[in-house]
Amino acid sequence: MVEIKGRIIPKPTEGSRRVYRKKIDSNENNNGPLLKGNSTGNLQYLCGNCGILLVHNVAQGEISVDTVFQCPSCNAYNEV
Ligand SMILES: [Zn+2]
Repeated sequence: MVEIKGRIIPKPTEGSRRVYRKKIDSNENNNGPLLKGNSTGNLQYLCGNCGILLVHNVAQGEISVDTVFQCPSCNAYNEV
């Protein structure tokens, strides 16, 4: 398993990037990763600010470059 820290970026312009964020009204799995890949992936992405797990088990190239993850813990925007 390879751990990669996301790069912190400013809040993207609405609609310009594909943003994954935690569902505010969801009580279940609140501390889980935002995205889980398939079982062949061996990359994990961590928040570049606070270090929590954002993306679990993804393969190289599985996440498109326009994807941004908003950390559910510190709300930072992470580019992969
Ligand atoms: Zn964070």
